Amino acid sequence: MPKADALITIDLGKIVENYRQLLSIFRGKTLAAAVKADAYGLGASIVAPALARAGAESFFVASLEEGISLRMALTPTGRNFRIFILNGLGPGSEKDFIDHGLCPVLNSLAQIRSWAAQAERQGTSLPCTIHLDTGMARLGLPDDEIEELIKDATPLNRLDVRAIMSHLACADDPDHALNEAQLTHFKDLARQLPPAPLSIANSAGVLLGPHYHFDMARPGIALYGGNPLSGAASPNNPPRNPMAPVVRLRGKILQVREVKASKSVGYGATHRLTDRARLATVVLGYADGFMRSLSNRANAWIRGHQVPVVGRVSMDLVTLDISSLPENHAQPGLFVDFIGPDDGLDQLARQAGTIPYEILTRLGARLHRHYIAAKI
Ligand SMILES: *Cc1c(COP(=O)(O)O)cnc(C)c1O
Repeated sequence: MPKADALITIDLGKIVENYRQLLSIFRGKTLAAAVKADAYGLGASIVAPALARAGAESFFVASLEEGISLRMALTPTGRNFRIFILNGLGPGSEKDFIDHGLCPVLNSLAQIRSWAAQAERQGTSLPCTIHLDTGMARLGLPDDEIEELIKDATPLNRLDVRAIMSHLACADDPDHALNEAQLTHFKDLARQLPPAPLSIANSAGVLLGPHYHFDMARPGIALYGGNPLSGAASPNNPPRNPMAPVVRLRGKILQVREVKASKSVGYGATHRLTDRARLATVVLGYADGFMRSLSNRANAWIRGHQVPVVGRVSMDLVTLDISSLPENHAQPGLFVDFIGPDDGLDQLARQAGTIPYEILTRLGARLHRHYIAAKI
């Protein structure tokens, strides 16, 4: 055990296992990996090379800066990977994309024209993805620009269009009518544009079935063990998570105390003890991404026993009621699981009123990160 008082363990073998599980159902050609936001907080410079060893050849990040870091992290592999930048081609950033061999996801006609002009100046064809907005109203060409591109697709002549893509708004809810509506709309638009590989699926999209697979998919959360279908059904009755858990989150017990009935616990005295209780004070707080909204809501596991968080989560510490445990079962120095080896991530997200994506990306910089190497 490292010297750290609170740590996350990231099992790269499980990330590889999840990639392979998606690969086994994926009917398209390219299973890319979304490693934006530092691979959902898990460390892109370590996670991406592991995915590369599992066979991933294309990666999606959000920003140009993330793309440049990822390119550097992947250089030692000696292989040439495609790195797509979802935020698109910012004004004046053409040179950075070229210097680092990055592919912009072109989100507007203006971006398409700038990239085509750059290709013209260089006398080459430049790689890119064209993003069509079919229902997110977030990024990608809006309807009127798509229409214009369909009427005159000459700006694409200079471009090596690696994919025409779109993004699903409700893929985490397989019964939502918007999935099929977006799919139909996407196919209809793609038919009217010059032929290119197609891509619409994120993690949940891959699970929606082969109609959504096309040539490329771009899963993220499923690789990191989050339930891609967490938007489906009632929050209290989520569908089983098909992915292997990747992340374990632990904190160390600093003190154990017996507290009299009628005493309160923590800031704001939000939890009052009805009986005499034994409490454990554990290293983990909202500064570590253990959100304050988990006050009086989350659970932890001590040697397989579930115990509740009582009182407010503070910046560096959290308090557990361990009265239900046999005495001497939990001593200072012992580590407690907050995301356990068995899928505590989705439950924690529900208790915090959020989704596994937010839990992972908020895990704080102070946490020690321990990686378990993939055996490939
Ligand atoms: C983040 C993102 C993905 C990956 O989504 P997951 O739900 O994590 O699988 C795919 N495509 C786009 C456009 C994204 O922004």
